[in-house]
Amino acid sequence: METFNVDGVILNTVNFGNANRVVTLYTKEFGKLEANAYNCRKARSPISGAIQMFNHICAEIKHGSHVDTIRDAEVLNFYPNLTADIDRLGYAAIFFEIVNKMTLPKVCEVGIYNLLINSLPAFNVKNPKIAALIAVAQFMEFTGFQLNFKSCVRCGREIEGNASLSLSEGGAICENCVNVVTGYSYTAELRQTFLTALNFNWQAENEITFSARQVYAAEKILFHYVENILGSELKALNFLRATAD
Ligand SMILES: [Zn+2]
Repeated sequence: METFNVDGVILNTVNFGNANRVVTLYTKEFGKLEANAYNCRKARSPISGAIQMFNHICAEIKHGSHVDTIRDAEVLNFYPNLTADIDRLGYAAIFFEIVNKMTLPKVCEVGIYNLLINSLPAFNVKNPKIAALIAVAQFMEFTGFQLNFKSCVRCGREIEGNASLSLSEGGAICENCVNVVTGYSYTAELRQTFLTALNFNWQAENEITFSARQVYAAEKILFHYVENILGSELKALNFLRATAD
């Protein structure tokens, strides 16, 4: 049977049987892949440490007629704070759930792989709420569902000053085109928050500075929009809401 090597991030794991996991990886080579890791939950398994959500691994995968199997795996990078801190875990899990639900298997988009690799260190040590906002905003640009933050979706005019944001119409609506007040209030400050998030360079910029109010407003819109597209609630977001109560 054919084997191949991948470099990827573990988007999700689901336990099955006594000691096995179905592993979803986002790989540099093939995009999203699913493979079974047998016995990886046994302490003595050589891959038990590697097969954990959020890990960046290289793996040897055996191609099977029904399922692929992870034969060997080695950790390239891991982020210990993500499992130690409930906020970090929650926000990274929201981002990973969105990537997992909004990508198709075996469609390779290296930009998504790079975004995962570049944002994980920020989830690990910086403000995870802000990291999630930036990561999800940037990820949406790859999906074809990105909101138009810059110009009016009705007349095409560049947005200046205050406007509205309509999730059903896919972006900003200028003051001239708004006949009924619908959607979200879209202030210049909020627009700047989204545009700063979209242009954020994970490798070059050390400080992420947004006001808590801006982040709250932007995050609410973005997550609500994703849930509208998916037609279901984000499990990780509900988890975070429950722990905040
Ligand atoms: Zn307009």
